Amino acid sequence: MDPSMATQSCPVCGASQSANPRYPAYLCRDCCERAVDETGRRLRFYNTDLGGGFAAVVADTGEPRDSHVCFVNGIRCRADEARFGGIVIEPARGENA
Ligand SMILES: [Zn+2]
Repeated sequence: MDPSMATQSCPVCGASQSANPRYPAYLCRDCCERAVDETGRRLRFYNTDLGGGFAAVVADTGEPRDSHVCFVNGIRCRADEARFGGIVIEPARGENA
């Protein structure tokens, strides 16, 4: 079986997307765009430079957010830089997420 054909489901909405062994529970693009903070403000995540890095801001105000935590459909998640660039969000695991 060609591994490039494998799929996995978004843990929030169930959308089918390309399988990624490194991120077995990553959120789909639509769900990433729904990420909010504890008070429901929309968040944006981005790489701080071409090589990666991670930064979060409140979308409406541009206020920096010093946290990887976000919420999607009420599910506590963690956003971080992806291994090969971009941002990946996965459901939080454990207290330190
Ligand atoms: Zn989704």
